[in-house]
Amino acid sequence: MYTDHGWIMKRAEITPDSTALIDVHTGQRWSYRELAVRTAGFVETFHSAGLRKGERVAVLSHNRIDLFAILFACAGRGLIYVPMNWRLSEGELRYIVDDSGPSLLLHDDEHAGRAAGLGVPAIPLDSVPSASVYPLSEKVACRPDDPWMMIYTGGTTGRPKGVVLTFQSVNWNALNTIVSWSLSARDRTLNYMPLFHTGGLNALSLPILMAGGTVVIGRKFDPEEAIRALNEYQTTISLFVPTMHQSMLDTDLFWETDFPTVDVFLSGGAPCPQTVYDAYRRKGERFKEGYGMTEAGPNNFVIDPDTAMKKRGAVGKSMQFNEVRIVDSKGRICRPGEVGELHLRGRHLFSHYWNNEEATREALKDGWFSTGDLATLDEDGDCFIVGRKKEMIISGGENIYPQEVEQCLIGHDGVKEIAVIGIPDRKWGERVVAFITAHPANVPKTEELLRHCAQTLGSYKIPKDFFFIQELPKTDIGKIDKKKLAKMAKELKKEEMQHPGQSG
Ligand code: ATP
Ligand code: MG
Repeated sequence: MYTDHGWIMKRAEITPDSTALIDVHTGQRWSYRELAVRTAGFVETFHSAGLRKGERVAVLSHNRIDLFAILFACAGRGLIYVPMNWRLSEGELRYIVDDSGPSLLLHDDEHAGRAAGLGVPAIPLDSVPSASVYPLSEKVACRPDDPWMMIYTGGTTGRPKGVVLTFQSVNWNALNTIVSWSLSARDRTLNYMPLFHTGGLNALSLPILMAGGTVVIGRKFDPEEAIRALNEYQTTISLFVPTMHQSMLDTDLFWETDFPTVDVFLSGGAPCPQTVYDAYRRKGERFKEGYGMTEAGPNNFVIDPDTAMKKRGAVGKSMQFNEVRIVDSKGRICRPGEVGELHLRGRHLFSHYWNNEEATREALKDGWFSTGDLATLDEDGDCFIVGRKKEMIISGGENIYPQEVEQCLIGHDGVKEIAVIGIPDRKWGERVVAFITAHPANVPKTEELLRHCAQTLGSYKIPKDFFFIQELPKTDIGKIDKKKLAKMAKELKKEEMQHPGQSG
């Protein structure tokens, strides 16, 4: 396992003149040679700052291509790269700084003020010069099981957890992805996913750099800019979360544009509405869904777009170098069609949660990682993600998977966005409630929605309340924020008790 500088110097020897990175926002283009030289600049900076192996280097910056040079420079010095979510509040950022204890913080100009307030030596990343030579004379020896980066989870279900990824984790995810998804130096990806999130960094960016392809980095997601960039940079495969797909599909530009170089559009990070599949099929574009998480890769499955379109919602079979199993509450392996917890095993897994031995012990047993997600395999061995275990609703003793109810409701013409949650109920234990943003020209009546649900859902799964709201709250990377919805539901119920008959 090659670990020096996380392999970028080697890659720059092999394909020095190929384009490694393009920045949509600034127009900068770096060849692999330039990336290596920029990496060497950061290596020098870390060396002269006296940083030692195992120390943390935090980053607070919008997406930009320099972040890859910092990442590889950390590998070169055995430092742990900690990208921070710039959307966090002061208190949340301080929590991450206290938790990870970085020795140095690099920031872009926009975050200079916030960086200065965090009590960590901070330097603007624009002040770091390129080195004149590479490779560098002095190397810090790293082993495959040394940590390379720590990425905080999305914080969808609670406080973000620091996930430690070793060289082995990152490189096996990249190798596994290259082999299983047939990536090569010809691939070009457009990435608007935040680089502080595993989806932005590890899903396609690092695998494509390892393969010698080109990574095009966008800063702030704008659907029309993204649609243009897909063609301008001749991209082949790009990942977006479902809300990003939806906003591209909602533009006229999408429908007026052909995508001659795009091989496949990829969705991941959250359940994808059937309507997104329908739209890509209508457009004649190949589309598939991936499942991932910070702790595992993120990539775990492989599916070809034809099967994906036939078996909507399937994420496919486990990739070449990892294993998948589905386990019931008694620890037995589930039969096809049965729902259980998804477990993953492979060298791409994280090594531990930072400062949280208990959570690590809970999650990792005998090399298997318990994802906390529910899934099922069909007769062909293709996997379907059913939803998060924590979000499963138990109403009157029956298990209800919100995703199933959501997929049904999104099929109604008037429903633009949907989220289904369970809220406490004195009689049933929990009751199913739905939050809806409606298409303004076609706001559905509650009775219509009830009729629509009754066509496909058992009566116990049909929401008891429908709350119409302007916009669903989202987390920082665009997942629906169900914690916030649960709070809203409580408030709305309280109001309803004061003014009965106004919800739905
Ligand atoms: P936290 O762990 O802090 O609550 P998070 O789980 O959202 O946040 P991530 O690691 O970014 O943090 O997200 C991984 C999760 O996203 C998975 O465990 C799964 O619940 C969900 N997910 C990812 N891809 C899909 C998919 N294709 N379909 C359904 N859910 C998905
Ligand atoms: Mg999680």
